[in-house]
Amino acid sequence: MISSNEVGSPAQIVRVALDIPASEGFDYTVPPSYRDDLAIGSWVLVPWGKARRIGLVIALLDQTEVPPEKLRALLGPLQGAPAPDRHWFELLRFAATYYHRPFGEVALPAIPKLLRTPPAARSRGSAFERARARLPQAVAPGELPADPLPLTSGQQTAIDALQAARGFSVQLLHGVTGSGKTEVYLQWLASILAAEAKAQVLLLVPEIALTPQLIRQLQGRFRAEAVAVLHSELPDGERAAHWLAAAEGRVRVVVGTRLAVLTPMPGLAAIVVDEEHDPSYKQHEGVRYSARDLAVVLAQQRKIPVLLGSATPSLESWLAARRGRYRLLPMPERVGGGQLPQLQLVEPRARQQRHGLLGETVEAIGQALAAGRQALVFLNRRGYAPVLGCDACGWLSRCESCTAFRVLHRQAQAAGGGRPARFRLVCHHCGADGPVPRLCPECGNLDLSPVGRGTQRLEEGLAEIFPQARIARVDRDVARRRNAARDAIDAAHAGDIDILVGTQMLAKGHDFRRLSVVAVLDVDAALYSSDFRAPERLFALMMQVAGRAGRSAAGARVVIQTRFPSHPLFTALARQDYDGFADELLTERRQAALPPFVFLALLRAEAPSLQAATDFLDTAAQIGRELLGRTMAEPDGSASTPPEPVRLRRPSEVASPSVRVYDPVPMPMMRLAGKERAQLLLECESRTVLHAFLRDWLAELQAVRTPVRWLLEVDPQEI
Ligand code: ADP
Ligand code: ZN
Ligand code: ZN
Repeated sequence: MISSNEVGSPAQIVRVALDIPASEGFDYTVPPSYRDDLAIGSWVLVPWGKARRIGLVIALLDQTEVPPEKLRALLGPLQGAPAPDRHWFELLRFAATYYHRPFGEVALPAIPKLLRTPPAARSRGSAFERARARLPQAVAPGELPADPLPLTSGQQTAIDALQAARGFSVQLLHGVTGSGKTEVYLQWLASILAAEAKAQVLLLVPEIALTPQLIRQLQGRFRAEAVAVLHSELPDGERAAHWLAAAEGRVRVVVGTRLAVLTPMPGLAAIVVDEEHDPSYKQHEGVRYSARDLAVVLAQQRKIPVLLGSATPSLESWLAARRGRYRLLPMPERVGGGQLPQLQLVEPRARQQRHGLLGETVEAIGQALAAGRQALVFLNRRGYAPVLGCDACGWLSRCESCTAFRVLHRQAQAAGGGRPARFRLVCHHCGADGPVPRLCPECGNLDLSPVGRGTQRLEEGLAEIFPQARIARVDRDVARRRNAARDAIDAAHAGDIDILVGTQMLAKGHDFRRLSVVAVLDVDAALYSSDFRAPERLFALMMQVAGRAGRSAAGARVVIQTRFPSHPLFTALARQDYDGFADELLTERRQAALPPFVFLALLRAEAPSLQAATDFLDTAAQIGRELLGRTMAEPDGSASTPPEPVRLRRPSEVASPSVRVYDPVPMPMMRLAGKERAQLLLECESRTVLHAFLRDWLAELQAVRTPVRWLLEVDPQEI
């Protein structure tokens, strides 16, 4: 029997959250000398087997179910750790509850590694001193532009509205590409910082490594307030230093990727989420949180305003704005009256292509180069070719461990090589990486050839068509080499590049002044994808890519090669009509009962055999149905019946929305790294009803003994 301690009386026993999956916390006795020092949220050092661990106190107790002989004493408060932060704790608690994970699994990974590594026996807490000694780098004054720009009338209107916001409110800044959203963020945040000496602000961005421009802008603008930068690629020491400086209010501006939302900020007074529609705000492993959604929750808890900015808001945010829950701030004009580019759709039917490029595309690129301008060629597929194939027998380079093909990659060569290029076959899903077979493994044929085209092959083709042009490629392979992608982008800004080739890494945020032509290849598959979010994603991506062009010159063009030029997505794109397209998609989603009109959760299972995964999900579905108090008959169960949702209601909640439990199905990528995967979809019109169900259901699933690995994903982005 556990009972909570009375407020104020010293803690005898504490429950501590540790970074141990699937546990709600561990109880420890508190040595008398520490009893007055501990509160909820205190950082403590505890024994763990023969080792020690760092944890956070989540409850003060005076009794425990742990038998006395197993109960151990904690080693003490963690020396040098920050004081408990109630607000941070509340956000972590919310995330743990909402994503149905133990608190420790949410909280501990949110702390930089160096600060959650137990100190060596003699040097308690020294990681904190080291982190404190390394303040975020000061920037030499004078080096960076620091003055705010005179606002356009569109920006001024947005800022006026923002400054009038009091308490919790969500504003959606819907500004076309090039409308100057960044300047709105900066000036609004500056006004918040100026109003209150200890105020802190948080700016979330989808991707940092490629936006050195933005960081420099922030460092220049907020020189006096100091800027902390947080993202997953920072060296550990730097991350600890920046995190701690934010947690202790020693920096007033924090800019970071999704993980930054889980940083304690005692003075937090405003939040900006840039490119709020970007899928990379959703964490894809561990606790699969959405940083955008958590930012809104955080603002609500702290009673502060949050600004979501995008040229193509997510349908979730758009619907909230349409319903009046979010306040819409439109900025439909580009700064300086810049024209949005003209859209040209070209059909490949029975026409000659050179290296995958149609005549019109080659011509447009050529014109840009002749005029001393830049071209961007967008192909959302990295590598040399998506598949290697045998012309004689039809063999294809499948991955043995995944439902996917191995991608042909050209290896980076030492400069001045002159040697023939070397290739490898790489699986983008499990990472399997091997040499290219010298002959067909099936028939022994010597001629294996690449099928299709990735960015590496495209780059090669462009070099052949435009031998004089300076070409740079930007994709995740390039980005893996330290600073390589950033250098390419800097070179493009400096005018040292004529043609940029790349994937969606190039679509975001870059403001290339000399870019006048954007060519888009191979997007047709995404037009007819089975994922219901595909059109929304593609539209956003196309708007973003197109938005790179013509920021400072008239007559910019976007050339899209497609077999479906009359697809409504392109019609809307040609008119730059986000509103119309989004409203259309919302109508479809409403009719099809899809998000944002319903809320989803997925139970995913993986096992050596599909049968085992599916059997577990069948059991889980059965438990769910019993839990809901099944009132309707199941489908007749004959093998030919397509899986149908079984509509279920709690008898006591006939008037409220029901949770629907679908039948298990194999995941779209059924095999990954040798494991077979299946999923079970749950949906409900009411978030509250869904989550109440999930809580009870998961409690029962925990008790099922199974070797199958499973996890629940709340608000999945891909189903
Ligand atoms: P968005 O994020 O909306 O696509 P940006 O913030 O990148 O747009 O701004 C586009 C360009 O306009 C940038 O080069 C920026 O420096 C410039 N800009 C923004 N606001 C102003 C202003 N008020 N006066 C002059 N230039 C501006
Ligand atoms: Zn063959
Ligand atoms: Zn694989």
